[in-house]
Amino acid sequence: MNKKINGIDASPGYSIGIAYIYSEMELDLKKDRTGRAELEIEKLLEARNKSKNQLVSIMEKTVLILGKDKAEIFQGHITLLEDEDLLEEVIELIKGDSLSAEYALNVGIEGYCEMLDNLDDEYLRERGADLRDIAKRWLKNILGIEIVDLSSLPKDTIIIAKDLTPSDTAQLDLKNIVGFVTEIGGKTAHSSIMARSLEIPAIVGTGNICSQVKSGEEIAIDAVEGIVIISPTKEEKDDILSKKESFLQEKEILKKLKDVEAISKDGITVGTWANIGDPKDVPGVLRNGGLGIGLYRTEFLFMNSDKFPTENEQFIAYKNVVEAMDGKPVTIRTMDIGGDKSLPYMDLPKEENPFLGWRALRVCLDRPEILKSQYRALLRTSMYGIVKIMLPMVISIEEVRKAKAIFEECKKELRAENIPFKDNVELGIMVETPAVAFRAKQFAKEVDFFSIGTNDLTQYTLAVDRGNENIAHLYDTYNPGVLEAIKLSIEGAHFGGIKISMCGEFAGDSEATALLFGMGLDAFSMSAISVPKIKRNIRELNKSDCVALVERVMEKSTSEEVLIEIRKFNKKYL
Ligand code: PEP
Ligand code: MG
Repeated sequence: MNKKINGIDASPGYSIGIAYIYSEMELDLKKDRTGRAELEIEKLLEARNKSKNQLVSIMEKTVLILGKDKAEIFQGHITLLEDEDLLEEVIELIKGDSLSAEYALNVGIEGYCEMLDNLDDEYLRERGADLRDIAKRWLKNILGIEIVDLSSLPKDTIIIAKDLTPSDTAQLDLKNIVGFVTEIGGKTAHSSIMARSLEIPAIVGTGNICSQVKSGEEIAIDAVEGIVIISPTKEEKDDILSKKESFLQEKEILKKLKDVEAISKDGITVGTWANIGDPKDVPGVLRNGGLGIGLYRTEFLFMNSDKFPTENEQFIAYKNVVEAMDGKPVTIRTMDIGGDKSLPYMDLPKEENPFLGWRALRVCLDRPEILKSQYRALLRTSMYGIVKIMLPMVISIEEVRKAKAIFEECKKELRAENIPFKDNVELGIMVETPAVAFRAKQFAKEVDFFSIGTNDLTQYTLAVDRGNENIAHLYDTYNPGVLEAIKLSIEGAHFGGIKISMCGEFAGDSEATALLFGMGLDAFSMSAISVPKIKRNIRELNKSDCVALVERVMEKSTSEEVLIEIRKFNKKYL
């Protein structure tokens, strides 16, 4: 049946493909299988074998794509899977307690994991997360549930899911996946942000789409307007294809601005940088003419590993980015875990309000060894280009001072170890909370630069969860309260004599360029695909016109009035 479903345009583009419903179902573990012990043991062993073969094949694929180092994780998984003590224990449970294979395995693994969770040795504690991951595979194989490998789906697949985690998104195979649609999530959810860096068309927040599409059905997505068409007609497909062609042509035209700077008509240059989540994103930045990196979200390096990456592993990743950017500034943010980004091996506590909980700098100050390994790796990287370090989720000057003290400690250690680094590496903070925006003048005395994270600043100023589609209509950076917070941050930075950029998604909103330029923003950092558009905007503007626009806008009472004023201006000048 031909049907249209609306959602939020999370990453622009057009695609036609075959739907694949991706769902993580609850596993149904039946307890008793009295009198069938032999059969259950056989199922257990068969599934173990199957799991091993799957892991070997994933390992071989990983060697080819990501190299031997990354593939070692799976060797570790195989070793855990083959642990004979665990197997014996599970077999005992099947025989002694007349349990089903799946139930006994679950009990056995949980017992093991609990024991590991309580150990002092961090390395062994982290193995608990691995074991749970392996158990899921093993259990699914016992139950005959198909295990989806998101990195090897057929050509022209469009994934349909309730939600995709950032690590699901990171696994997507760009050769075969031409889009994704999720039931929940907003524009600034991390899977949306990643879709933009991967340049995959994506629509989020569609409501119950999973029950309305079947795997194998043809669908078309218009991820500029946020429309999914199930079983499109020939006319609808032709329409999508022609829009796709113009979209790609416009993209090519804008890319001609690749090597030029964003200089306004009256000669003011602003930075046009890009945000990345992985060294693999750098070619996209260069292709789109990003003249620096304003935000490298390093937590993905931590999330794509099965243990804390060592100082050296981090050094290699950061150095790759800095070298590839060839002398252009690279702003690297310390780990921002928590909120919607979890770290299985870290056992983050379950929280009622994770976005208000133990996340980002809070975690790093409580676990300074994490911050130290990151600082040391970053300082070492400074020898290869321009590295700026940025702290996320700050709320107080005490936090900044503590983080600075640890930074100085790391420098001292490196000096003592005769490890070279540049002494003038800048340490800045993100402005993501009203607490910093209101007191920007004071914070500016403490740090080298600011970067406004509007994704969080909007959610914290308005008390609107950025990932909750039920209140997505309230999530609005044009709300005058948020604009005031942005303006105060820029004024505070300049009062204190430091530069300020913006790395939240608002920086890439073409409608907001004139307003932000008029407020005095020094650099825009965004998804790489937005760089050419923002460059073009700046090149069409005069600063004095934009300053006058800011004055008019700040007099307005509602977002609607703000947008009317901005659109009038943009129509005239852009
Ligand atoms: C932000 O909050 O605007 C930001 C850039 O950080 P993140 O989206 O990673 O939370
Ligand atoms: Mg943030």
